[in-house]
Amino acid sequence: MNTLERTLSECKAIVCDLDGTLYMDGKPFDYSRAFLDKVLQSGKKLFYFTNNSSKSRSTYLKRLHEIGFPAKDEYLITSTDCTVSYLLNHQLNPDIYLVGNQDLIHDFQNYGFNPLSSSDALNSSKVKAVVLGFDTELTYEKIDTCYQLILRDVPYVATHADFLCPVSKGTFKPDVGSFIAMFETATQGRVPQVMGKPHKQAVQAIAEKAQCPPHQIAFIGDRLYTDIRMAEQFEMVGILVLSGETTRTMLISSQDQPTFTIENVSHLTELL
Ligand SMILES: [Mg+2]
Repeated sequence: MNTLERTLSECKAIVCDLDGTLYMDGKPFDYSRAFLDKVLQSGKKLFYFTNNSSKSRSTYLKRLHEIGFPAKDEYLITSTDCTVSYLLNHQLNPDIYLVGNQDLIHDFQNYGFNPLSSSDALNSSKVKAVVLGFDTELTYEKIDTCYQLILRDVPYVATHADFLCPVSKGTFKPDVGSFIAMFETATQGRVPQVMGKPHKQAVQAIAEKAQCPPHQIAFIGDRLYTDIRMAEQFEMVGILVLSGETTRTMLISSQDQPTFTIENVSHLTELL
């Protein structure tokens, strides 16, 4: 038994990033399903964790099902879930201004929030928070409303802070981290509380669902500054896959170092 195999045998939960780890641009890697089946057969808990808040939980579950992945509701943890927990714990509800797609608005409405329109948000004194999500329907009106509310010191929260979202191997589109940089420039330095990976809210959401200590949780992902940083900082087992954005050259020069590095998740299938 090698070190990776022994470490995996001691883990009670396997948490997988999606983009770049199990699929790319929505297309599953051909080895992913066999790996996921093996996780479930092994008796370990399986979770998917995504920072991408451009889609709702139901859209994710439908897609996971369509591409042939195990897709129970309990398997999915998103940065939206982390954001909702934070807002509720801090009584920042129900009225919010949400910079997000219709899908994200539906998720917040399902959790009992009341996302306001731009004009209602600017004319209301009851806005509890301005929430910045991965809005691929972003308009200048939304940018301006968000900016005005930040200036009024309304609590400012972002679902995650990834700068870029992978589209296919080596190509990306601007993600929430890039939006944060825009508002930071406009407001001369205001930055949000960030919820998703690699932050504390994400670890709390995982620990709550996994019901075991962090050292018994393996987090598998392709991104150094989110997946691997979180595993390292919160003492989970961090497994870097090279099937997504990280190359060996990037790994060598990174401050974020995984517990193990593998080419892709198929290397874990026979070890489980
Ligand atoms: Mg990824």
